[in-house]
Amino acid sequence: MAIERETIVTVCCSDIAGQVRGKGFPARELESRRRFGVGWTPTNIMINCLGRIPATPFGAEGDLMLVPIPDGDITLDYGDGSPVERMVLGDILTMAGERWDCCLRGFLKSALDQLEAETGLRVLASFEHEFWIDGGEERPGDSYAASSLRGLEPFIGDFIGALRANGLSPDTFLPEYGPRQYEITVDPALALQAADEAVKLREIGRSVARRHGHHLSFSPVVTRGIVGNGVHIHFSLIDAAGKPVAYAADGPGKLSPVGASFAAGILKHAKALCAIAAPSAISYERLKPHSWSAYYANLADRDREALLRICPYPEVEGVDVAKRFNLEFRAADATASPYLQLAMLVHAGLAGIREKLPAPYLSSGDPGTLTQEQRDERGIGDLPRTLAEALDALQADRAAMGWLGPVLANAYLIHKRGELDMTAGIDMDELCRIYARAY
Ligand code: GLU
Ligand code: MG
Repeated sequence: MAIERETIVTVCCSDIAGQVRGKGFPARELESRRRFGVGWTPTNIMINCLGRIPATPFGAEGDLMLVPIPDGDITLDYGDGSPVERMVLGDILTMAGERWDCCLRGFLKSALDQLEAETGLRVLASFEHEFWIDGGEERPGDSYAASSLRGLEPFIGDFIGALRANGLSPDTFLPEYGPRQYEITVDPALALQAADEAVKLREIGRSVARRHGHHLSFSPVVTRGIVGNGVHIHFSLIDAAGKPVAYAADGPGKLSPVGASFAAGILKHAKALCAIAAPSAISYERLKPHSWSAYYANLADRDREALLRICPYPEVEGVDVAKRFNLEFRAADATASPYLQLAMLVHAGLAGIREKLPAPYLSSGDPGTLTQEQRDERGIGDLPRTLAEALDALQADRAAMGWLGPVLANAYLIHKRGELDMTAGIDMDELCRIYARAY
């Protein structure tokens, strides 16, 4: 009997390392697998980005289920007779079918449920992705240049087409400031969907790049000293009826009281959030002054170096400003899981609402030109300057540790400190090269 090539579906999750891991099975069994998924192991969450498990609180014990979610499918059919690539995102459940403490998607769902239960609010979000690709032509002065797109059209066109074929709504694709650096955005969506889409987009980008013989990297710093790849997380708040509520024409920075408290919660926990949003040793090579990322814990209107940026909107007649009004968290990068990043922002924002925190100081200009005393007066904090510092700040932030819960908090700190120990002797240039391949 002739062999008939079969399609494999991989059910997968985005984990602490920000990697997408899973297990495959024949596509013909997808419908039955939608119920119980595939077996999964607690210690898998401890596999770091280098593929190692320096330490694990779970040992070799325990069993879980990785179960496909509705609308989690990614299908990449290149229409050239090559095998169709299929993946489906999953939730990690206990054998009793409940959310596992370290299921990051489940963690985001629960953060959003808490926000909605306590405040009636939901989050709209969108992830901006920057990346480097080894295609196209590099020439001096090509920052933001139209010519940087030349030669990459087949890749770009297929990337956009693959996103659309998988239900995402591509928004922009642009050459960025750095050599061979690009950015892609999709339309905002409800937070859980936005995080699902962020995971999908990166996997789709990697697959399409490979088909075109390119290597693409979302790593925060591909070449040291050159502007990094950020993940800017845009968010806004809507009420049960879908009405935007973060905007108030007369508020500070046009933030409503609830929007201001949400922002203040994020700034209050900024250090701990960095441990989650910028979670690798090289992340802090990107978070440098004057690199359009973030260097201080500040809120500013339309400033690309603020941790929280109030984004622009056209101030012309007929534009519904409240609808377009959104904030952007700029310290994040792609070495983290989008679920975990967004969940922690939501928890911090919710804490700010709960505590009715007042509007943060609206900074203008470079906080680096102020003295430490002036920054303190204005409530402009420092961000951690290394991952080790960020992890200590997370551990010292009782509220943030509480949001993670004991199991995830412990696993996270062990995972990340183990990664730091493993990479401690490697010089930064080499580390950037390693991470560029890992991400
Ligand atoms: N590449 C910058 C970063 O690392 C962002 C540039 C921009 O504002 O788009 O975040
Ligand atoms: Mg950009």
